[in-house]
Amino acid sequence: MFSSDNITIEGLRVHNLKNLDLEIPRNKFVVITGVSGSGKSSLAFDTLYKEGQRRYLETFSAYARQFIGNYDRPDVDFIEGLSPVISIEQKTVSKNPRSTVGTVTEIYDFLRLLYARVGKPHSYITGKPMTSFTEEQIISKIYNDFNDKKILILAPVVQSRKGNYRDLFEQIFRRGYLKARVDGEILDLDHGLHVDRYKTHDIEVVVDRISLNNDKLKRLKTSLTEALSLSKGQVFIIEHESQNIKKYSKNLMCSESGISYSYPEPNNFSFNSPYGSCNTCKGLGNTWNIDLNKVISDKTLSIKDGAIIPLGKFKDTVMFKQIKALLSKFGAEMSTPFDQIPEEAKEIVFDGTNGSTIEVYLNMGSDYGVYYDLEFEGICTMIKRHASAPQGSLKKWAKEFLSERVCNECNGERLKKESLSFLIDNKNISEVSKMNIHTLNLWINDIEKKLNKRDTEIVRDLLPEIKKRISFLNNIGLNYLDLNRPAKTLSGGESQRIRIASQIASQLTGVLYILDEPTIGLHPVDNKRLIDSLRKLVDMGNSVIVVEHDRDVMESSDHILDIGPGAGSHGGEIIANESTKNFIKKSVSLSKSLLS
Ligand SMILES: [Zn+2]
Repeated sequence: MFSSDNITIEGLRVHNLKNLDLEIPRNKFVVITGVSGSGKSSLAFDTLYKEGQRRYLETFSAYARQFIGNYDRPDVDFIEGLSPVISIEQKTVSKNPRSTVGTVTEIYDFLRLLYARVGKPHSYITGKPMTSFTEEQIISKIYNDFNDKKILILAPVVQSRKGNYRDLFEQIFRRGYLKARVDGEILDLDHGLHVDRYKTHDIEVVVDRISLNNDKLKRLKTSLTEALSLSKGQVFIIEHESQNIKKYSKNLMCSESGISYSYPEPNNFSFNSPYGSCNTCKGLGNTWNIDLNKVISDKTLSIKDGAIIPLGKFKDTVMFKQIKALLSKFGAEMSTPFDQIPEEAKEIVFDGTNGSTIEVYLNMGSDYGVYYDLEFEGICTMIKRHASAPQGSLKKWAKEFLSERVCNECNGERLKKESLSFLIDNKNISEVSKMNIHTLNLWINDIEKKLNKRDTEIVRDLLPEIKKRISFLNNIGLNYLDLNRPAKTLSGGESQRIRIASQIASQLTGVLYILDEPTIGLHPVDNKRLIDSLRKLVDMGNSVIVVEHDRDVMESSDHILDIGPGAGSHGGEIIANESTKNFIKKSVSLSKSLLS
């Protein structure tokens, strides 16, 4: 893009900078140093970074710019040779609870692709591998399994789901089918057939019954195609005599339990997608639940004396009257210590009558009262309702009684159990994400040996991308992290190095990277790793400018720009702008002359 080897700046007057003319070499590792307040940041960030951003924004249309806003031109006469600028700051990458080391480095996205392509499906019920067949394979299997037998061909249309299915039965009947197998029993599809809507049901349409032999092969094919299309890919065969049932599927199926999944997409492994995330915790791994320790103050207190914190002490309210009536139904009173109230009564006080009613006696005076059917919401149900409201004054109050807990549906693994049942080398994607980078690096480099020839071919372009990204993280001193680690818990230095590793992995060239004191808070061992990674960016054809005092960084650079001599109005001048070699030679002779 630019033929020049330098960034040329003329008439630079940003902040305290004193009308400077200077050249900074491109495609080099440059350190800008100087005392605090000398004007280092004015040059690096307020001039180079800002002008780079401004020029980038200028590439947008005027229409788009009115939404993103404009940057003011820095106070400078002329800048030439500036590349696109990226600043890598020492700040936390993301506050989003859904961001992890895996997602910000994109390694998790590549792993999702890997699992979608070559993950081996297993049944979450039996743990055994799932199987799938083509239509041709299903036909020949049925023919071999049931030759000379009388069979029923069934198309499963409902599997363990609730409903009365009146409409479904009607539809099937109108399409010309006469029988269905409902919860294991063959029924005639009469008008008005329905089942208990509150129970779970299994329903299969009886597509055909035939005595299988060579003459019937064509009919078998026709009926099978019909059954597979009715059921979206599954067929059950029952042998008439033994009543043995066999299940076949074009989808992935567990031949023992009959559960079936479709072939996965990368989305099925994303905890940020409804296709992959656990239904209970929505992919967060934790849920907020009522914490009874926060609801009950002291079990030896009575409800009257304030055992239930959200209610407080007895007041003359409807709620307390209802609770009193409930307690007396179970032989307890308002003054009964909480731990002596019968469990059944406590359950209703907490969880309510769940949509139905309970008959209670309401005492209206000393000698009379009425029986009536009470519908009670329940204290915990009420708290949950307020806590999950989008907003409202009671939301904050209700959340006081909740605690965060590991999700009991996914055990904190964030994904649906189907998604966790795809394995590579006997590990699911969550187990792989929990490995530290060091172990993960070893695992991914060994994985090809464990894949068959076909799978190796499928992931040939993908594996190098994953390996590369993991090894960058490994080499930059972050081998103790795992992909599951929430990004918001990373230190500024860790975040910065992750961003550097991502930049290296993205393999951009011709970019100017600007960093502000990247060694702050770093262990000396990691200093070296940081320097190596910056050097790598330069070797790839980029420019790196670092504002830094650290001696190691300065000595490892190609070029040093010293701004000074003092701070504020006493600074803003160029003290040195030369190769690191010359700079060090001069400093050595200077300190020698000072010593002599
Ligand atoms: Zn969950």
